[in-house]
Amino acid sequence: VKNVVFSSIYGHLPFCEVICHYCDFYTDRSAKADHERLASAMALQALQGAGQFAPILDTVYLGGGTPSKTPPDCLEKILAPLRPRLNKETEITLECNPSDCKPDNVRAWRSLGFNRASLGIQSLDDKTLKQMGRNHSRREALDALACLLEHFPSVSADLIYGIPDQDEGAPAAEAQELMAKGVHHLSAYHLTLNEKHFLFKRLPEGEAARAQLEALRRIALEKGFTHYEVSNFCTPGHASRHNQVYWTGRPYWAMGPSAHGYDGLSRRWQIKANWRKYCEEMEGTIAPEITQEELTEPQRQMELLFTSLRTEAGLPRAAWIQRFGWDLGEVCGPLWGEWAQRGWALPLSDRMRLSFAGQMLTDSLVLALLKQSERLDR
Ligand code: SF4
Repeated sequence: VKNVVFSSIYGHLPFCEVICHYCDFYTDRSAKADHERLASAMALQALQGAGQFAPILDTVYLGGGTPSKTPPDCLEKILAPLRPRLNKETEITLECNPSDCKPDNVRAWRSLGFNRASLGIQSLDDKTLKQMGRNHSRREALDALACLLEHFPSVSADLIYGIPDQDEGAPAAEAQELMAKGVHHLSAYHLTLNEKHFLFKRLPEGEAARAQLEALRRIALEKGFTHYEVSNFCTPGHASRHNQVYWTGRPYWAMGPSAHGYDGLSRRWQIKANWRKYCEEMEGTIAPEITQEELTEPQRQMELLFTSLRTEAGLPRAAWIQRFGWDLGEVCGPLWGEWAQRGWALPLSDRMRLSFAGQMLTDSLVLALLKQSERLDR
């Protein structure tokens, strides 16, 4: 990727102690891991890419997999080539599993410079955790959270809703408990499974899952959280800057097997999801194998709409005009006005923002906008 300056980096560490029943990410069992080798390969890749990085990086996010399984000295190896480009403003996130959040580890992560922890709690109900194949209990999740909150300035927790046999009020009650403990940020994800999955037939109806999110949202707003993206809630100053890079279509650089990158214009790529092959390539000083996709203009439009309309900030009309040279708000003004009347959208301003009810319909609203704009003569 030429002539692009990257201020954000996503690094993928695929190893997990057990593979959860619903997992859709590139993972491998940590029993087979060679953390040292993968860390060295990622450090090499970061060195090779350094010429394209901004003088000071805005965000670095290590996800997975379970990055917290990687020993701290290997995490240091990965961060070392980035160090000259990190300062105290850089948001440096580590995804953590509750079973790894022992005080020694947590202190080590902090001293490496991680300043944001994203904890995969998923549920606070032992039966649900077991059903999902998670390797931790409710107690371990709460202990991990307490330890992270003691040491980290910004802590996020993930919850999942729409789980078979989950109590309707469970996600909201769990969110309430986590907020009472002092968590700064919550992500609530709707469980999605492919049709062949053994739990697929037992998934609750879409309406029931939506009611769970609605209840969670109500409590979060009551507690002073902002619902700043359909799946994300935060206290003031704790929105994930890294995720906002994705939602606003800015460039990010990919490091590690299966990681995705984007040039902020029209090119996406993904590093091959095979950590051994990735290590071999880096050790042989050849670029890692990637698959590339050149997005067409309609694809870019669709992506920007899907991501930005799910955020509270919505789509700034100027951002659209800058990318595509015409004003979506003007072209789709009457349609938008109808949606505002129905309670799906906020009145058109310099931004296009959906209400929560509208966000629940994002898929069909985006398609309607694109269809409308195709039909009209611009
Ligand atoms: S911990 Fe996360 S990445 Fe690992 S198997 Fe479970 S869901 Fe997948």
